[in-house]
Amino acid sequence: MKDVFVSIRGRVLLNAEALNMTESVGNYVKHRRVPMVIREDDGTYVVYFVPAISGESVAHGFQKIISEKSKEADPPLPLCKLCEKGIFLKSSNSSIFKESFGTSLSKVRDGADIEEIIVGNCVVEDIGGFLYAEKENIKRTSNFFTGYMVPTQESLRNVVIEPQLHSRYALGTKFVREKGQMLYYVEITSSLYTFSIDMDTRYIGKLTFNIDTAGKQVVSGDERRRRIEVLLDSVKTLLVENGFGAKKTRFLPIVDWESIVIAASDKPWVVPSPFTRDYIERTRKKLEKISYNTDIYIFEGGSFEAFVADAIENIKRRVAG
Ligand SMILES: [Zn+2]
Repeated sequence: MKDVFVSIRGRVLLNAEALNMTESVGNYVKHRRVPMVIREDDGTYVVYFVPAISGESVAHGFQKIISEKSKEADPPLPLCKLCEKGIFLKSSNSSIFKESFGTSLSKVRDGADIEEIIVGNCVVEDIGGFLYAEKENIKRTSNFFTGYMVPTQESLRNVVIEPQLHSRYALGTKFVREKGQMLYYVEITSSLYTFSIDMDTRYIGKLTFNIDTAGKQVVSGDERRRRIEVLLDSVKTLLVENGFGAKKTRFLPIVDWESIVIAASDKPWVVPSPFTRDYIERTRKKLEKISYNTDIYIFEGGSFEAFVADAIENIKRRVAG
């Protein structure tokens, strides 16, 4: 078995989406916005506030898929009691730890042991990291990395956010006669968004926190391989089933992937930013100069789902060796 670093960058057209809402002010629900600075043609830099989907939102969707795939694995892979329900409190204090793993920490001697219990018994926290914040702080960095989905450079200046009016009560019923119609607004938007996620299998199933024990493998080699397979299957599902974002029961967006690049390497090798249109060309140029046994898979049209499925199967074969 061989470890792999997978880097994915893409551009996805999302229409009529409300995938990442922030606060509601009275009956008005706001879409997340971020400031973006871009260079104008005259060399000045201008800030635009534009709709965005946070990395936390993408990570939540991804970890939910990892949890489901771990349960479906044959035999199932271990999950704590909270992560198996999609509640990612992730060992943030001693009472959550006790609830998650059904054991108190009284027998645990030092930081490495706490990490060992968590990594050994929960695939989501092994892959997605955790922060145990008690008197003693124990941190495990996530083995995948994602960030904000933002409008691409050429769509950024023209993107708009539109509040859509909805009413909850029907006219002609006593509820409306007594209280009036209940009106509410939901901000929706449409844009060509960037998408980014990287993942590194090096530390999966291994300790990382305590300097004396870092690198020690705490699950069997076979289980480690199966956890990496779950990670790869999960990213496939994240992409082909649009597993990111919320509010999808009534604001299911129209999704169209324009392009995506998937790279698999022996060491960290990231695909250049998809913010500008030329990222595929820059990916090819980078590969001419820098390669860590890097394979790249490029999608620019056709069946997105078939492309992703093939690329991930190839990466699984690469990992199997
Ligand atoms: Zn967990």
